[in-house]
Amino acid sequence: MMDTVVTVTVYGGEKDELDKALELCRSYEKMLSRTENGSDIELLNQNGRAEVNKETAELILLSEEISNASDGAFDITLTPLTLLWDVKNNTEPPSETSITAAMDKCGHQKLSVNGCTVDTGGTMLDLGGIAKGYIADKVAKALKNGGVKNAVIDLGGNLVLIGDGEREFTVGIQKPFAAVGEKAATVKLKGGNTSTSGIYERYFEYDGKIYHHIIDAKTGCPVENEIASVTVIADTSAVSDALSTACLVLGTEGSKDILRQYNANAVFILRSGEVVLSENLTYDRDGNIKVK
Ligand code: AMP
Ligand code: MG
Repeated sequence: MMDTVVTVTVYGGEKDELDKALELCRSYEKMLSRTENGSDIELLNQNGRAEVNKETAELILLSEEISNASDGAFDITLTPLTLLWDVKNNTEPPSETSITAAMDKCGHQKLSVNGCTVDTGGTMLDLGGIAKGYIADKVAKALKNGGVKNAVIDLGGNLVLIGDGEREFTVGIQKPFAAVGEKAATVKLKGGNTSTSGIYERYFEYDGKIYHHIIDAKTGCPVENEIASVTVIADTSAVSDALSTACLVLGTEGSKDILRQYNANAVFILRSGEVVLSENLTYDRDGNIKVK
């Protein structure tokens, strides 16, 4: 689902709850996907203005809040650029003039939300950097309401860990550009939300440079900095999802303010292989990362 793999694991055998969780994912995908016919986002991109579901309006507002907090590093209106770069299918960068033309059509400042009426201001929306986390939060809430006490929700790398507060979860952080399953670091958590964004997920290489799927609105090009991946730990999965994308753009230093503002933490894996922790993380005796 959602162009990724969704895995929901419930400990305790509530199979019914599992089916409901996956059904919920499907219904949110129908609402929030850019490509699904008749979704709120497809309607908005077609018509420029539409009445949307209250969840869609809520998610666009949260996206706007994070755009402002990240000085535009997170921006759901970059669709003309992501379509132009199309890193899944392209093998070389687009022309400068086409990048400049696409940049003119972007900008979250053009967007407005009034109740459930959204006006795109002529932009095209793509919630790919936040929707999976948002949906993971909804699934977590539904599972908890259904009495589930132990579960792991994984929506394409956005994890929600539901536990009793005693047991520890071990989260492995993928080593960028290595075989799947090879770890760069391990995080121990009693529960909560983690999301990873990485430049190794979708990219093409041209002239020795990596062109990946996260766009820097300031240049109109895939982000070029020291970072290979960022894993964010935050109070909600929607926030960890959006912040992992934003922090990849902002870099280790540039992320400090927004991480503080959202009471969030991050593990940066640099292109050099170095692991950098945000200020509230530390290592335990076994070399695992934990919150201080
Ligand atoms: P993630 O894997 O969560 O970091 O999200 C990446 C996806 O978000 C991309 O595939 C795009 O659909 C979208 N995206 C790319 N760049 C940005 C950005 N600067 N701000 C918000 N969303 C973005
Ligand atoms: Mg994200």
